Amino acid sequence: MGAQDTQVRDLVIVGSGPAGLTAALYAARANLKPLLVGGYQFGGQLMLTTDVENYPGFPQGIQGPEMMELFKQQAARFGTDIVEKDVEKVDFSQRPFQLWVDGQHITAKCVIVATGASAKWLNIESEKRLQGKGVSACATCDGFFFRGKEVAVVGGGDTAMEEATFLTRFATKVTVIHRREEFKASRIMLDRARANPRIGFLPNTEVTEVLGKDKVEGLRLVRHAQGNPQSQMHMGHKVEQWDMPAEGLFLAIGHQPNTRFLEGQLDLNAVGYIKVHNFTRTSVEGVFAAGDVQDPRYRQAVTAAGAGCMAALDAEKWLEEQAH
Ligand SMILES: Cc1cc2nc3c(=O)[nH]c(=O)nc-3n(C[C@H](O)[C@H](O)[C@H](O)COP(=O)(O)OP(=O)(O)OC[C@H]3O[C@@H](n4cnc5c(N)ncnc54)[C@H](O)[C@@H]3O)c2cc1C
Repeated sequence: MGAQDTQVRDLVIVGSGPAGLTAALYAARANLKPLLVGGYQFGGQLMLTTDVENYPGFPQGIQGPEMMELFKQQAARFGTDIVEKDVEKVDFSQRPFQLWVDGQHITAKCVIVATGASAKWLNIESEKRLQGKGVSACATCDGFFFRGKEVAVVGGGDTAMEEATFLTRFATKVTVIHRREEFKASRIMLDRARANPRIGFLPNTEVTEVLGKDKVEGLRLVRHAQGNPQSQMHMGHKVEQWDMPAEGLFLAIGHQPNTRFLEGQLDLNAVGYIKVHNFTRTSVEGVFAAGDVQDPRYRQAVTAAGAGCMAALDAEKWLEEQAH
């Protein structure tokens, strides 16, 4: 894409995770000459991980970044134009659609949004450094690596209970750490976790540091007196600090879909996921969505890639209908 991308593109795909790159592969092979605007953080969430062992076709597993490089090569091989920048703004109120990328303006008959979601992290330096080395935001993806080990889950909602329960298939002990006294999880999920002898609970507790140089070896924790940790600290209440051994830390404090640039343009749910109907259609005809940006449930590379394929086939059919 040059400064003068004056042509009306048939299809622009936004996002470069498994969903966007699979959509690009299918669209390019259908001769739609798609433009993929993949974001500054090209490759999506798998760039943050090491071993991916559950993507079919790689019996020995593959490193996340290596897999995304292969996805990119395959999409490019069939003629996808790739730009590694963010879409800043869109106007879907009329057709053709308008998108703005780094101050430049793109026009498209059809758009697939595949901008994924970002896991929420604690935002402490040691957590970032040990991502993929014992710190994870996906128990389904990484639980298997913690057979016979002690791990911790941070969070207090249904996801945290689900992940903790799932992790007991592998880990000898799972400690749920939650910064409040009360858990937000539904009664049934909480009861199930509480009944599991391998799960322990640390309410009113926060992780302040992940210990270990090249892998997780423990957690530094602080326990507040019961109540809101922030206000207790400010009121000068005493806090207790200690180190707990752990070889894994799983964050289960939610995900943020990357849809801020779509606000007011597409129907989003209360937390910002794109609402889809009829498989991959959004509230705007001619705009399709695929992957984690519309899927708070499965959140897997293979489901995102599958959804990318679906969106490309839906977009292709829709463009064909418009031509007649
Ligand atoms: C640590 C970790 C480990 C994981 N391990 C596994 C695993 O082993 N197996 C598995 O199946 N799944 C795993 N997952 C989940 C998997 O990564 C996701 O389900 C999958 O990547 C979702 O794909 P996606 O294409 O929908 O979105 P993403 O991978 O989130 O990609 C979205 C892309 O869109 C781009 N983007 C965002 N906003 C814009 C914008 N405005 N303009 C342009 N581009 C934009 C982003 O930069 C990103 O590149 C893991 C996730 C994490 C966080």
